[in-house]
Amino acid sequence: MSDYPSLEGLRVVLVEPSHPGNIGAVARAMKNMGVAELVLVSPAPFPVEKASARASGADDVLENARVVADLNEAVADCVEVIATSARSRSLTWPILNPRDCGARVLEQRRQGPVALVFGREDNGLSNEELQRCHYHVQVPSDPAFSSLNLAMAVQVMLYEVRMQSLFEAPDVNVAAWQSTHTPADAGWDELPATAGDMERLMTHLERTLTTTGFHDPERPRQLMVRMRRLFQRAHPDRMEMNILRGILTSVDKLARSQDRGNHV
Ligand code: SAH
Repeated sequence: MSDYPSLEGLRVVLVEPSHPGNIGAVARAMKNMGVAELVLVSPAPFPVEKASARASGADDVLENARVVADLNEAVADCVEVIATSARSRSLTWPILNPRDCGARVLEQRRQGPVALVFGREDNGLSNEELQRCHYHVQVPSDPAFSSLNLAMAVQVMLYEVRMQSLFEAPDVNVAAWQSTHTPADAGWDELPATAGDMERLMTHLERTLTTTGFHDPERPRQLMVRMRRLFQRAHPDRMEMNILRGILTSVDKLARSQDRGNHV
């Protein structure tokens, strides 16, 4: 069991899907995103083996899919119905982008079932069907080639819902999905180095580079400032700091032993 919240109260409605393979692929996309409720409006012959094959383990979503005769029946109990469409239609209608749609779905499903409605592979949704819906959503694809494969459109829409649900869930293990760019962010495997660690590294580096002759404290130019800028940009963690200090110590040792060699 995952510790992510499940997306209950969200229903995926496919209107007259004609390719069983697409139905299977939709089931898989849904299960990937933690959504279970699938309603099929007058689908091509179903259930069939081809759908199961493309579901790749999401057979439970297919088995529990409800088949109904028309869109009205699919969404009769829903408090919010959102249509997806590859192109904008002539009549202006309230529009959501996929990201805002994710937020809207999460908010509204507290009041009752929410439906995301997807159209026919060849023809999309009819104007009448679109007008049954509170909002229209378009994935902002290239206008010159705007139509996504049905299952891919489902995937994109549910991904947005899922991301939103993760942002809103305070108790989930955020380290598993939040972006981690540097040790300054939660979820990094080592603690970030402190400002004091950085000062000690800079002092050590300057001493070592002076010993090796790379740095001339009488003519510093901007070497140490540039080194500081480089290391601060890297946000080293404590382990990395230890490694850097260890490398410098090994150079110090080598320099000392060479120095002794020169004096015998
Ligand atoms: N030729 C049809 C495309 C249908 S694609 C048309 O122009 O409407 C099948 C379904 O996938 C669409 O009805 C819609 O639900 C979804 N879909 C495809 N591309 C999409 C996009 N860019 N944004 C939102 N939904 C999309």
